[in-house]
Amino acid sequence: MTQPNSNAPASAVTSCMHEVTQQTYPASTLYVVATPIGNAGDITLRALHVLAIADAVACEDTRNTAHLLTRYGLSKNLIAAHQHNEREVADKLIARLQAGQRIALVSDAGTPAVSDPGARIVDAVRSAGFRVMPLPGASAAISALSASGLLNERFYFVGFLPAKAGQRETLLSGLRGIAATLVFYEAPHRITEAVDALAAMFEPSRQVVFARELTKLFEEIHRGPLSEAAAWLKADPHREKGEFVILLEGAPTEADADSAEADRVLSILLTECPVRQAAALAAQITGRKKNALYERALQLKG
Ligand code: SAM
Repeated sequence: MTQPNSNAPASAVTSCMHEVTQQTYPASTLYVVATPIGNAGDITLRALHVLAIADAVACEDTRNTAHLLTRYGLSKNLIAAHQHNEREVADKLIARLQAGQRIALVSDAGTPAVSDPGARIVDAVRSAGFRVMPLPGASAAISALSASGLLNERFYFVGFLPAKAGQRETLLSGLRGIAATLVFYEAPHRITEAVDALAAMFEPSRQVVFARELTKLFEEIHRGPLSEAAAWLKADPHREKGEFVILLEGAPTEADADSAEADRVLSILLTECPVRQAAALAAQITGRKKNALYERALQLKG
């Protein structure tokens, strides 16, 4: 299939750059800059502007960031800031902020400090009294949620599961009653283990979504019941490769359980009575409103 051709983005860049540069970018500020999670095109104009004007870029892996910046035609003074040196680096960055510099903080992919280094640096910089400005952009979790079709508006970000089985079970068992979509990050070499652990802990009927290789060439988003998740993964060896977000439907709320019970009662009554009578009897049995049950009975009948 041929790709549609469009000149719109180039003119959009020109018209938006004015707004980007009109905003103030104060000195002595740490800018937390989101970078793409796969497709280099998913950088924002503001992120590019801040990376261009920053005096230095603190980054998880200097080689990765140097490569990314090269793609945008930028070359910067890079400072390694990974999970093992965050506290020491924070002191160095604070000294630079005291000297009036603008520092950009990035991670290898997506939003810094979300399952990535950065939170300790932000904490130290804020405690030292300096301003921290977020430059929003890609996040694997939010991208996965947005394309999942799961209707629950609440979500609970779990991130990576512990590697040790005992710790993993303890964590998962604490999540069983949470009535929000559970969001997990997982590395390809642990995906099978993670799915087995979820299947052992949660109801098989819960919906699970695999959001794989988001924004990349082989992006795939699959949704189905947890009971079929392991089989889906194994059905194609390619499915166990790449980066994953796993979403798991939350526990049913009390309202869900009430509705399920009302449906059960209505379904039984509808086999014996007309709709109006079934709704009236169901209202007496469940204590729910007759009109709502009548509407629901019509749906069930239909
Ligand atoms: N800070 C990042 C964010 O904002 O999403 C997350 C970084 S975390 C170290 C890496 C994990 O994020 C991966 O193991 C995977 O679970 C998820 N991830 C990152 N990029 C992804 C992508 N393109 N598709 C699916 N999941 C991705």
